[in-house]
Amino acid sequence: MTATKILATDLDRTLLPNGRWPEDPGAIELFNTLTEKHGVCVVYVTGRNLDLTRDAIDEFGVRHPDILISDVGTAIRRFDRAGWEADTGWEAHVRRTSPEWDAEAVRRALKDIDGLVEQEREHCGPFKQSYYVDHDDRDAILETVNLRVKGRFDEVSIYSFDSQSGDGLLDLLPQSATKQTALEYIADTLGVARTEVVFCGDSGNDIDPLTAGFRGVLVRNADEQLVAGVSQQLENNPDMVVYFARGGFKGLNGYYTGGVIEGAYHYGLFHDNDSQ
Ligand SMILES: [Mg+2]
Repeated sequence: MTATKILATDLDRTLLPNGRWPEDPGAIELFNTLTEKHGVCVVYVTGRNLDLTRDAIDEFGVRHPDILISDVGTAIRRFDRAGWEADTGWEAHVRRTSPEWDAEAVRRALKDIDGLVEQEREHCGPFKQSYYVDHDDRDAILETVNLRVKGRFDEVSIYSFDSQSGDGLLDLLPQSATKQTALEYIADTLGVARTEVVFCGDSGNDIDPLTAGFRGVLVRNADEQLVAGVSQQLENNPDMVVYFARGGFKGLNGYYTGGVIEGAYHYGLFHDNDSQ
């Protein structure tokens, strides 16, 4: 009996080839095959909600995950033959550990800030209040946001830049329900050490899980903000383990799915030695 191996990955522009870089033909099929062959527990960790995750699975042909951490960490579901099943323990845990969180109160506090536009209702939820941000003016906008909410709602604010649309994206979440804490919860639930979890990402909202004690992978198309942030933390924390996909591995280019596969080989989740 081998120990569970967790391969966790962001979706957009990490596993999914939906950015401006070239995709590897066949990389998604290879990912599907290799995760199956090596019995890896696949966890998608995404800002998408369940419906948009289903759309991505249909559109790109990526396999179903074993576990879905959606809505930037605020919801967890398991997937098996019976379909999607919500992890209600996670919801209870979040309510218990972030008692001051109140999405509606955050919403009221952040009304009428120039350059800050609330996202559509389907992108918001009881544990997620999200905005589009004028990226060029982000410093001033984020400072105003901080002045209004910081420390009042057990909240955390996570900023990322969507290189595809040019939008700045701001998520206000309970501090107990982020991509990082949700993945920690999954690792603990499955009895897997954090150092045995591989997490792959490409943009700003992936920085916490990439620097939280998991084995990190930055796909080759990772944005500059993330590369700079991770590199800086690497200098301060020599125990951090992060791999920067370069491409040129098994004929893959290192972007998106190719980078995820390269990282999974780097950490030994995938290997070509059948005796293991
Ligand atoms: Mg992404």
